[in-house]
Amino acid sequence: MGKILIMTEIEKLDRIAISVKSHKLLKQLLSENPEFEEILRNSKNETEVVVGVREWIGKNLKDRENAFKFYHARHATRELFEKLEWRDYAIIRMLDYIDHAGIEYPDLNLRGEIAVSNPLRLIWLAVNKGTGGAKPDFFIDMIMLFRQLRGDSKQDAPPADLVHAWMERYPSGLDPRIVQLREENKMRIIRILIKKMDSGEITSERFHFEPGMSEGEKLETVRRWWEDHLFHLRFAVRSPELLNEMLDHSLDPDTMKILEEAKQAGIPFFVNPYYLSLLHVRVPYFAIGADLAIRHYVLYSKQLVEEFGNIVAWEKEDRVESGKPNAAGWLLPDGHNIHRRYPEVAILIPDTMGRACGGLCSSCQRMYDFQGGRLNFNLEKLAPNEKWPKKLRRLMDYFEEDSQLRDILITGGDGLMSSDKSLKNLLDEIYEMARRKIKRNEQLPEGEKLAEFVRIRIGTRLPVYLPQRITLNLVKVLKDFKEKASKIGIRQFLIQTHYESPMEVTPESATAVQRLISAGWTVTNQLVFTTTASRRGHSVKLRKVLNDIGVLPYYTFTVKGYMENNYSFAPNARVVQEQLEEKIIGQIDEKYYDTIRNFPEEASLMVENIEALRRSANLPFLATDRNVLNLPGVGKSMTFRVVGITRYGRRILEFDHDETRTHSPIIRQMGKMIIIESKSIHEYLNQLEELGERREEYMSVYGYSLGQTEHRIPVYDYPEYEFEPTREMSNLEV
Ligand code: SF4
Repeated sequence: MGKILIMTEIEKLDRIAISVKSHKLLKQLLSENPEFEEILRNSKNETEVVVGVREWIGKNLKDRENAFKFYHARHATRELFEKLEWRDYAIIRMLDYIDHAGIEYPDLNLRGEIAVSNPLRLIWLAVNKGTGGAKPDFFIDMIMLFRQLRGDSKQDAPPADLVHAWMERYPSGLDPRIVQLREENKMRIIRILIKKMDSGEITSERFHFEPGMSEGEKLETVRRWWEDHLFHLRFAVRSPELLNEMLDHSLDPDTMKILEEAKQAGIPFFVNPYYLSLLHVRVPYFAIGADLAIRHYVLYSKQLVEEFGNIVAWEKEDRVESGKPNAAGWLLPDGHNIHRRYPEVAILIPDTMGRACGGLCSSCQRMYDFQGGRLNFNLEKLAPNEKWPKKLRRLMDYFEEDSQLRDILITGGDGLMSSDKSLKNLLDEIYEMARRKIKRNEQLPEGEKLAEFVRIRIGTRLPVYLPQRITLNLVKVLKDFKEKASKIGIRQFLIQTHYESPMEVTPESATAVQRLISAGWTVTNQLVFTTTASRRGHSVKLRKVLNDIGVLPYYTFTVKGYMENNYSFAPNARVVQEQLEEKIIGQIDEKYYDTIRNFPEEASLMVENIEALRRSANLPFLATDRNVLNLPGVGKSMTFRVVGITRYGRRILEFDHDETRTHSPIIRQMGKMIIIESKSIHEYLNQLEELGERREEYMSVYGYSLGQTEHRIPVYDYPEYEFEPTREMSNLEV
């Protein structure tokens, strides 16, 4: 029998020829770096190249103390990170590339195909044999790295006025000209709906015309219904054809083809009329591209359609098997209603309408559940059944008996999709549980007491998707709860919402927020940093507009997921660039920390408090958010180093956990985590150009090859207890 030859991934790369474009870029790399070329020409193999590059760094850059301190640190600090200069980033990256050369990683963007990083070897092969298979994007990234290493590129942080000029590119939804446009959109949508109701194409028991109504009366009736969120849920668009019709047939055939394929693949559509009215059909000169972040939240990408059916779950800790701990080590009650990563907080997903949302965001991680059929938009079937009250009580026992839980996040789906009645029941149960926990504590000695509840949060995008949901009755439910829960020590009441774009801040949405604030709840925002939201100035403008209406930014999230979210994914380098070059103009000096710490306890004065602080600190907005990635495993972090690069030029990042917060002890076993990005920096810049951006404005993005999680602003600290709680963790199996 003949011998079977199994080639390793590295051996396979030896044979792949590089393209003409790669050759040209290689030439450029060599001509810009004669010393590197000499090292390559004098090396018989890659090991000698590595030795040569290390020596070169040792000889020329040895005085760059912070770079080496950072490189050697097991867990670096934010303070050290802030001292790094531009060349330091490159030194650390080059040394990390060398240390991680040859390691193979399964690439979940390519359905588990093996990726290997060995950049110096790829260049050596390209020079000596014309092989190695490195693509142009790889060489471009390497050219930029060497420029940074030689000190030939600059960080070039933009001056504040430039950041302000970028912000000006994006009008908010409160701009009267935009309000006027949306009114036109609304009327167009209403007319179409009337036509369809008249023809019987769409029907509703609740929303129908009385016989003999005139056109004018119908129009008035639908305008009235428009204020009712149930109308929007009932008449949400569920097909690409209707979507296009509602948008006055303005979608181009390529987009429609993708949407048709999305429908065939089983991806649901659910766009409610209000949210649809935020999309421009007639684009005015002052707002070109302003609605893109919204548009791409509604329209699906080619990659999503191609991957749907093969999407891999990102959130490992959300998978729960009966009796076994989750990925973060927590034991949870059966029923998939509780998710938990951290000791202090757990997420509660009720068996109510709250499992649905007011729309389906194209980059939502829940696509995975839609793919498996576990989620759908059959809203009628989501109403709680008779088993729910009993189950809820059992879930509450978990919160009551746990030693560390002090914070509960009601979400779904969307925490405010539940009816007022379901929500009130849920809040009442939480109140009773928190009270029982206090009673239980009376029997326990100091040092053994359980953590009592101090914070309650509701996660919802309805102030954005469907502000009509924030009714006066809902506000009463929230206000009553706050009044009574404040008396038993719950001090922070938060609505965590999700605005993507300043264009989502409409008069309706601002009213919704103002109502929530009037109930004494603090409204915070989580932005998902999609490609369109990552354009220069977009997120800073959003922060400012949110502050204006009394919302505090909380997190700016890197898009999660793999190839399915390739379109919306902005590389982590851009997330760091945004933090250090744009968000920085809203950085709050520590001397204001005591002031801001009290904001949640004076929640009904949020607009005034934000305004006063902005004025005294002379800031355009308060940068209260942290830019982070939600790691698959345990929690959020922006502490990473680029340790490798694939031959496609996609970066390989090694993430560490956020050192500044309490974690499940499991992280000590988990170690660091590898994330392979789904697009190269070059691809990202091409995409921005396609979106009308100027590449030159972004070029320093190549250099941000590491990050360190920002410190949390004290507005998000838990209040201190007046007693000493136990340090022991219950419900944990590590
Ligand atoms: S509102 Fe949140 S949970 Fe719902 S689809 Fe959007 S991102 Fe997903």
